[in-house]
Amino acid sequence: MIIMEKGATSEQIKHVVSEIKKHGLRADISRGEFRTIIGLIGDESRISFTHLAALPGVKEARMIETPYKLISREYSELFEGKDESRIVEVGDIRIGGDEPVFIAGPCAIESKAQIFRIAEEVKKAGAHILRGGIFKPRSSVHSFQGLGALGDEEAREALSWLRDAGQKFGMPVMTEVRGESQVDLIAEYVDILQVGARNMYHQDMLSSIARKGKPVLFKRHFGASVEEFLSFSEYIAAEGNKDIILCERGIVPVGKGNSYTRYTLDLVAVPVVQKETYLPIIVDPSHAAGRRDLIFDMSCAATAVGASGLVIEVHYNPAEALVDAQQMITPDELGRIITTCKQIKKLVASDKKKIAVA
Ligand code: PEP
Ligand code: MN
Repeated sequence: MIIMEKGATSEQIKHVVSEIKKHGLRADISRGEFRTIIGLIGDESRISFTHLAALPGVKEARMIETPYKLISREYSELFEGKDESRIVEVGDIRIGGDEPVFIAGPCAIESKAQIFRIAEEVKKAGAHILRGGIFKPRSSVHSFQGLGALGDEEAREALSWLRDAGQKFGMPVMTEVRGESQVDLIAEYVDILQVGARNMYHQDMLSSIARKGKPVLFKRHFGASVEEFLSFSEYIAAEGNKDIILCERGIVPVGKGNSYTRYTLDLVAVPVVQKETYLPIIVDPSHAAGRRDLIFDMSCAATAVGASGLVIEVHYNPAEALVDAQQMITPDELGRIITTCKQIKKLVASDKKKIAVA
């Protein structure tokens, strides 16, 4: 990190950046309220810190040891001078603010009628953002892969249904990008690009997605530590895109025998991530539990530990869904969850304030 003097000129900032680039590294420039900070991206052993520290306008060259410095609290504190969290704005929806945000919709889009009906019903239940898979990551090549797998035309058609359903019912939309070749196409239609758990490690895809400049929902891989989770989200930030919404969705259960749930929802990751980074984190109880009878409880728990929102799979007739039928809830159940979680969020927020004052 290069910390510039308060009165550093733009010429001096440009000079530091050109020195960084000369050594084959990239620069992340953050202009805060108080000062400008320049983050180095790349192999730092190629450049001398004492050389950078001696350049005109530089106050200090400081090492930040975490592998995810651009999204770390330490970084934002340097240029903002205070303990601020980032709010990711999607249209007029604010993720990371005082109000919890609810993203809901089917696991997979199956028809125009299905996505329009679900959109209407989740909106009525209080959802803010519409989700729906078009390129589905599936364990078996023999199962339904999403409408996107049928061909380019079918993919475009499904994407336009999602976009139009969102527009009709006043919700931004989100779908998963499963491969690098889908990035341009999907970015034409949606407001949030979703990175699924299985692609958390796909660094080239992360960079391409980030360069679209749209908010990214970034899911934790089920075998990843929190450090790996944050380190890979840094690939998005390194492209200058810090509109990252982190998402905890369960990790692989331990022990032998029946684990009773699809994954283990790692809720302690929520406050840990919030201490490490200024990015918002939301929770997906659907894929973690894999059972509809647990979604209400886990939604409440996730909100209580401070999640900024939830992403939940919803269908008007869960039994008929082609993918993840066993974890889908009805719009009515979603409405109950939203009402309860809003109350929990308020309660926890006011309690936290009290603790801070004490
Ligand atoms: C999804 O949200 O549609 C999904 C496949 O989830 P995950 O990547 O968490 O398994
Ligand atoms: Mn699913």
